[in-house]
Amino acid sequence: MDLLDKIRVLAVRAMQLGVGPGGYPGDTVIDEVLGASHVVIGGKRTLMFGSNNYLGLTFHPEVIAAAQAAISRYGTATTGSRIANGTFRLHRDLELEFARLFEKRRGMIFTTGHQANLSVIAGLCGPDDVVLIDAESHASVYDGARLSGAQLLWFRHNSPENLDQKLSRLPKGERNRLVVVEGLYSIHGDVSPLAEIVDVCQRHRAYLLVDEAHSFGLYGERGRGWAEAQGVLPQVDFLVGTFSKALAGIGGFCVSDHPELQGLHFTARAYLFTASGPPASLAGVQAALRLISHDSSFRERLWANTRRFRAGLTRLGYTIGAGDSPLVPVHMGTERATIGFWQSLMEQGVYVNVVLPPATRKDECLLRASCSAVHTDADIDEALEVFAAVGEKTGMLAATSR
Ligand code: PMP
Repeated sequence: MDLLDKIRVLAVRAMQLGVGPGGYPGDTVIDEVLGASHVVIGGKRTLMFGSNNYLGLTFHPEVIAAAQAAISRYGTATTGSRIANGTFRLHRDLELEFARLFEKRRGMIFTTGHQANLSVIAGLCGPDDVVLIDAESHASVYDGARLSGAQLLWFRHNSPENLDQKLSRLPKGERNRLVVVEGLYSIHGDVSPLAEIVDVCQRHRAYLLVDEAHSFGLYGERGRGWAEAQGVLPQVDFLVGTFSKALAGIGGFCVSDHPELQGLHFTARAYLFTASGPPASLAGVQAALRLISHDSSFRERLWANTRRFRAGLTRLGYTIGAGDSPLVPVHMGTERATIGFWQSLMEQGVYVNVVLPPATRKDECLLRASCSAVHTDADIDEALEVFAAVGEKTGMLAATSR
């Protein structure tokens, strides 16, 4: 087989599905961003229901002002890694702020959320260790576990019982196990049974890492995520998150009571050998963090919008994911039907995400809409009208309600 055949398969697949250049999910060009809820695609004003801009902070005046001021003060980039080129005051301050917010002893930040998982998982674990991950974990969790060289075991999605079985089969008495779960899972928009997972980890004396990429800013009295909402923050050994969703920036963080986290600055290869986060993002995140932890109105608006949108889709007759999160999976069926539906939505001015195999089973493809605090009632109603019209036109509503 030719080296390039694996790539050529993609073009063949697009052709079979009858989509031309720019028509395949993942290839959309957004020409203009009009605000946190609207963009321009192909000359058309389009409602954005496919971002992870949960709290809509990318256009918040305080976030923008902080990012602009940081560019004037520190420039546009760090141009290198912290270990070689130095830590900016902004990096250190943000690490302290995350640690303080979570009431943990240490905080560490990374250039992306993906890199946070690579650095923490592969920085902590090696060939003599075992990483146990939920089967629906994000690619960065799988990648971090593989990079570590540790034995990789997965357990059934959201099944503390299956985790318990897997841990029971390992040799007793060693403390070389890391369990990794997420707060909110992005494919089906469901949350983790964290209290039970914590219980299993404690019984087996396994370390627990919780990735709150999608849940930070959404749950908990102070917006700190699903572990806060479940009252188990003190029991989480390593809590990871990203800046790229509620925090409206780019980067990742990890907080922990284990002082050893500090050592990753010198040992985690995925962190050592890449440039550090840019000043504008760090300062914007600092501003966003303060807004999130002191003002619950963004979260309240997000949840009100989520309820309105979910209820509307259900009323129309769509089958949606059972959770109640702002990530709303809409069940479609075949790949062809899903892509066709997605294109029709976009033609009518609504952008959502497409989830195809291998992220789903064949013929169980999804569209995934994500709600934002900045959507107005009128935005949500407009999106629902488009869903109704496209559902009628494509016969999808008749098919799902049969
Ligand atoms: N972890 C999870 C659970 C995610 O969903 C994502 C991104 N979707 C990441 C990590 C990676 O974050 P980033 O995009 O900031 O690299």
